Amino acid sequence: MANITFIGLGNMGAPMAANLLKAGHEVTVFDLSESAVEALVAEGARTADSGKAAAEGAECVITMLPAGKHVEAVYLSDDGLLASLPAGTLVIDSSTIAPETSRNVAEQAAVRGLAFIDAPVSGGVGGAKAGTLTFICGGEADTFEKARPILEGMGKNIFHAGPHGAGQVAKICNNMLLAILMAGTSEALALGASNGLDPAVLSEIMKQSSGGNWALNVYNPWPGVMEGVPASRDYQGGFLVNLMAKDLGLAFDNAVTNQASIPMGSLARNLFQLHAGQGHGELDFSSILRLYKPE
Ligand code: NAD
Repeated sequence: MANITFIGLGNMGAPMAANLLKAGHEVTVFDLSESAVEALVAEGARTADSGKAAAEGAECVITMLPAGKHVEAVYLSDDGLLASLPAGTLVIDSSTIAPETSRNVAEQAAVRGLAFIDAPVSGGVGGAKAGTLTFICGGEADTFEKARPILEGMGKNIFHAGPHGAGQVAKICNNMLLAILMAGTSEALALGASNGLDPAVLSEIMKQSSGGNWALNVYNPWPGVMEGVPASRDYQGGFLVNLMAKDLGLAFDNAVTNQASIPMGSLARNLFQLHAGQGHGELDFSSILRLYKPE
């Protein structure tokens, strides 16, 4: 069992840290939100006054932060962790951020003798709570193997995508495809409904036909068609439109840098930005259906 410091106890980080405690690790936590810290302390975690203090004596540091600027602040600022962690510490960043930001942190970590991997996740809040996340890692193979037993305390599928930044690239590709599938599924259901078809019947037909996909199978965007999904609780909880819009922005920026064409991804980005701009940023991303079926 390891001595782990976990920084960033939001929708994802809190249940991930709780699962590390359940797996028997010694966990010290830190977040800017006191209530988030208190909830983990109540479950058996230790805490400290700052991220830097929380990381003292840690064999492994894990971060789960909103975006690249938060990751840079925690690791690279004058008071950041890279300056204070002893050589040999394992550092895992599970935030979804730009691959080049991850590579930059990895390079600066290497200069200080720290073993860094990017390890963004798929599986959402449900997967974080159930300990069934998919981890998509980028970094050196031996660092990945060191991280694997710790990641297994929080996830089910642990992939090594390639060198530093590769985890972020794979994660961005996955979320771009997911956004396209969710928008396309919403569009098809709305077209059928405009013809008088029952969305539940149409969903079942498409699930058994060549249009079947993850959104139809497990995350139907039409309210009432599927129990237990955000669409059936007014799009509360789940994966926020704002976060999907952020990830599509990462895909777009990456495509520009690499001179890759992403016409479908760009369209999906515009749809989710439009939806967020209409005041739906805090709803689950399957609420994109509302663009096609205003209430
Ligand atoms: P969140 O906004 O709920 O939580 C982020 C936490 O980080 C907050 O508690 C915030 O107080 C804390 N924080 C920010 N700056 C900090 C700092 N300097 N020091 C300490 N704590 C700090 O976000 P989330 O939904 O948990 O997502 C985290 C990351 O995981 C994001 O990059 C997101 O894109 C990715 N992700 C989210 C989901 C999801 O379904 N929510 C799924 C997969 C991946």
